[in-house]
Amino acid sequence: MSDQERKEGGIVFKGRTEAIYKVIVIGDPAVGKTSLLTKFATNQFEEKYLPTVGVQILKEPIELKDHDATVTLMFWDIAGQPQFYMLHRPYFNGADAMLLVFDITRSSTFSNVNNWYSAAVKYGLSGIPRILIGNKVDLAEERKIILPMAEHLSEKLNAPYLETSALTGENVNLVFDKIADLVYNSKENYR
Ligand code: GDP
Ligand code: MG
Repeated sequence: MSDQERKEGGIVFKGRTEAIYKVIVIGDPAVGKTSLLTKFATNQFEEKYLPTVGVQILKEPIELKDHDATVTLMFWDIAGQPQFYMLHRPYFNGADAMLLVFDITRSSTFSNVNNWYSAAVKYGLSGIPRILIGNKVDLAEERKIILPMAEHLSEKLNAPYLETSALTGENVNLVFDKIADLVYNSKENYR
């Protein structure tokens, strides 16, 4: 490969991939982590709750809107159940970005975002790009977390806030475009 063709990081250039970036998807059980990934990857939605067992990994190339490049992201979707907490180290290890997900209809999932973020910090991930996601906006009548609350947390965590629905697909593609963009920009120094 010539120098011209060579690019560092998970950027596809002339059809070649140099690396894949790791994005962890964290948040309480049943907030919709798996559903968001499934909606994004297959445009399908599963109403039945099928708890993730262990870790599920999804690899997706994402074309950047503002650059002539594609970033390949590997999403790590963890089981939220405590019996899988022993998987946390390999799960968090070496992550390049994170999606912090809560369910706008359940307050406990919102307050637990702080705990998930603290766990990430404990594994040395305080500097990586992140997005705060309030999922299930289609359940408007059951909403417990109003916008100002989420925006306050968003500022505290220095993570842009997006509201999504894995059911309707609202803002789902936006989340993935945004995280790809944040990863791309965060790796700028290496290109
Ligand atoms: P995870 O444990 O965070 O991976 O959550 P899942 O993706 O397995 O979703 C948990 C439950 O919430 C499932 O029954 C999903 O069908 C449902 N769910 C996920 N996202 C949404 C959403 O945006 N709207 C609604 N109404 N239900 C959702
Ligand atoms: Mg899951």
